[in-house]
Amino acid sequence: MDDRIYNFNAGPATLPLEVLEEVRDEFLDFKGEGMSIIEMSHRSKTYDAVNAEVEADMKALLGLDDDYRVLFIQGGATLQFSMVPMNFLPEGRTADYVLTGSWSEKALAEAKRVGDTHVAFTDKDNNYKRVPKMAEISLSDNPAYVHITSNNTIFGTQWRELPCFGHTPMIADMSSDILSRPFPAGHFSLIYAGAQKNLGPAGVTVVIIRKDMAESNPEALPIMLRYQTYAKNNSLYNTPPVFSIYVMGKVLKWIKAGGGLAGMAAHNEAKAKIIYDIMDKFPDFFKGHADKGSRSLMNITFRLPGEELEAAFVKEATARGMIGLKGHRSVGGLRASVYNGMPEAGCRALADFMVEFMGRNK
Ligand SMILES: *Cc1c(COP(=O)(O)O)cnc(C)c1O
Repeated sequence: MDDRIYNFNAGPATLPLEVLEEVRDEFLDFKGEGMSIIEMSHRSKTYDAVNAEVEADMKALLGLDDDYRVLFIQGGATLQFSMVPMNFLPEGRTADYVLTGSWSEKALAEAKRVGDTHVAFTDKDNNYKRVPKMAEISLSDNPAYVHITSNNTIFGTQWRELPCFGHTPMIADMSSDILSRPFPAGHFSLIYAGAQKNLGPAGVTVVIIRKDMAESNPEALPIMLRYQTYAKNNSLYNTPPVFSIYVMGKVLKWIKAGGGLAGMAAHNEAKAKIIYDIMDKFPDFFKGHADKGSRSLMNITFRLPGEELEAAFVKEATARGMIGLKGHRSVGGLRASVYNGMPEAGCRALADFMVEFMGRNK
């Protein structure tokens, strides 16, 4: 397909073309049922098989066993900012937050509505150029949990090695880098991710939760805000976002066929390197926002010498079929989001354009 553009948007984001083609091909008649999957009962055997397979495939990719459940919840990662403390921050306890960007700040703000919190680290004064070293994180006494954001979508930083806090339950927002690389998922009590960056369409949020955590929720909570409700009912207590879950299932198969998480890591490292290499070769023209040791493989943030040049860059790139490169207002400049679904050719096209644009504007 020649008329597909390179979509560098931070989310919703580009999906593998193979996935979109498969969805198209089976859309009108799903599994010989004479109807599409979005018209079908979520109580049907056909849908139930899809739902169960997505959970199983997600656990297999993450190397998780029966100690974990995978839940499908609506309301985005943003609802998880609230559900996490509502379920796991009881009175008299404290929840610790590691602040590495705007999304961590938002998660903290919701926890504050629920109970006592503690900021275990923040790099706000430095405009979130990096993630902390373990020694810089100071936990409170016996926290109910520690919350981290694995990849900071807006600032373009990422924990290259994820932390571990011993027996303290660790909860992570992985909305913008889930399944982009291997990591020890079994160290986490709960992982959540809105689907629309690395997994599929908006509308579903994946929650990977240790079984014992899903069983011990406060009874006073409204039913749809308890993890237990989703765990007990295979996320089918009410009508789930069937289309989003189904497309996500296709993306999981695509990841598996591409070598699983190790395959994705190789793919993502090669892609990001193409762009970071240009930045490192011409640091006077391309100024990265993130410290080198905290650079994200998913969101690459940089400035040019002047806002007019930045605006021209976005405009000219768009004319060449590379869209979504304008940076978030809290960083300014440019941001190339290169999630799993971005092909290497997209990164090469962008890198070539960067060099050519610099040559004309130096
Ligand atoms: C996009 C994003 C969110 C917000 O996700 P919604 O699904 O829109 O609520 C939260 N955290 C991170 C890290 C994100 O990238």
